[in-house]
Amino acid sequence: MLSPWRSELYWISWLGLVAAFFGKLTGQYFLAFWLASLIYLARHLFHINGLLVWLRLGGKVPSGGGIWEEIYYLIYRLRRRNKRRKKRLIVMLERFRTATAALPDATVVLGPRDEIEWFNEAAGELLGLQRYDIGQQIANLLRAPKFAEFLRACDYDNTVSVPAPGTDNRQLEIRVVPYGDDLRLLVAQDITQLRLMERVRSDFVANVSHELRTPLTVLKGYMETLTDEAQVSERHLKIFRRMEEQTERMQNLVDGLLSLTRLESGAQSSPQEVNVAALLRSLTEEVSLLQGPQPNLELLIETDARLSGSETELRSAFSNLVVNALKYTPAAGHVQVIWHDDGEGARLDVRDDGPGIAAEHVSRITERFYRVESADVPRRNGAGLGLSIVKHVLSRHDARLEIVSKPGEGSCFSAIFPARRVSRSAKITA
Ligand code: ADP
Repeated sequence: MLSPWRSELYWISWLGLVAAFFGKLTGQYFLAFWLASLIYLARHLFHINGLLVWLRLGGKVPSGGGIWEEIYYLIYRLRRRNKRRKKRLIVMLERFRTATAALPDATVVLGPRDEIEWFNEAAGELLGLQRYDIGQQIANLLRAPKFAEFLRACDYDNTVSVPAPGTDNRQLEIRVVPYGDDLRLLVAQDITQLRLMERVRSDFVANVSHELRTPLTVLKGYMETLTDEAQVSERHLKIFRRMEEQTERMQNLVDGLLSLTRLESGAQSSPQEVNVAALLRSLTEEVSLLQGPQPNLELLIETDARLSGSETELRSAFSNLVVNALKYTPAAGHVQVIWHDDGEGARLDVRDDGPGIAAEHVSRITERFYRVESADVPRRNGAGLGLSIVKHVLSRHDARLEIVSKPGEGSCFSAIFPARRVSRSAKITA
């Protein structure tokens, strides 16, 4: 086959030759060439029209010589490739839709105004959505104030749990993931079973702890009587003291577990106004009465800021931080308890110049039962639950725990409260 441009040149040469021949015959060269150009132009117009009709209506590929053969062929190849790509995309899209439809979690695609654009079968079941709900705003169908607030806040890092619409006992956990331009994917999971299991576990721990409390109190009473007995030999006295120590340890453990389960499962009571300065004063007085040699304890109240929350819970958290500092700092050391305003909220810093904590432990010491086993940190009685309690209490007060510590340089445990929990006047609005 001739190359398209060569064949086009043949066309032009033929027309030129014919025009020259007629020009010589008639002596009208200009007219002959003008007619030949018209014929050439008409041929192109004819093919342009053919191309337009083909592009618009499809059908058989038109045929044409010269450059047009090549143009038709290239367009045909492009169309065929696009068709194949489209087919592949449709298959992929179909597969994706079937996979999302089969997901056990409810999946809803939300548009820029939170309107429903698409949802899978599970969403129909869990959220009670119907085909005709497409286009409706999700907050109008999932009527939970917590959810509306969550959606408004665009909080993509967290989840919200709400009751499933139309049911009393099903709980859903909802997460929203942004994607594309202004689109959001809402994923809802049924967590009823999970919550139930959590409840069973914490009830079990609470019951066991509660049942252990009475026998431990009786045991401790007997141990105290035995150690007080005058005629007990030195060897037996040593054994009884050990037993008393261990009973006390078990009692602490049971109390810690009970506090934790209460914090985990207990509903939050309406917040009271807590006078933190007074609380800290009484707390430091109390701990200074603890037995044995203790580091120097200094209390600095730099603000009259009060907190909105539970006094009992805050007292337990602050007490854990202060007692830890005293427990792990040598008697020659120094502990500072500072209550101050940092402009954005209020914070309690408990600083000590004790042994400090290595970085690999800092991230883990708030886990339950986690205790640092190191030659530099003195071994003290403790169940490893104190800081878990602190963390729980703080999260119930929208606060966070910050730990800055280096081995050999002491530690600073800070409870940081947001401004919405803090008030400087006697009246609390939060
Ligand atoms: P425990 O009952 O063992 O004190 P916590 O949860 O209160 O349990 O603390 C966990 C661990 O963190 C402790 O075992 C201790 O090793 C370490 N720790 C806590 N506070 C301090 C502190 N102020 N200085 C050094 N180590 C600390």
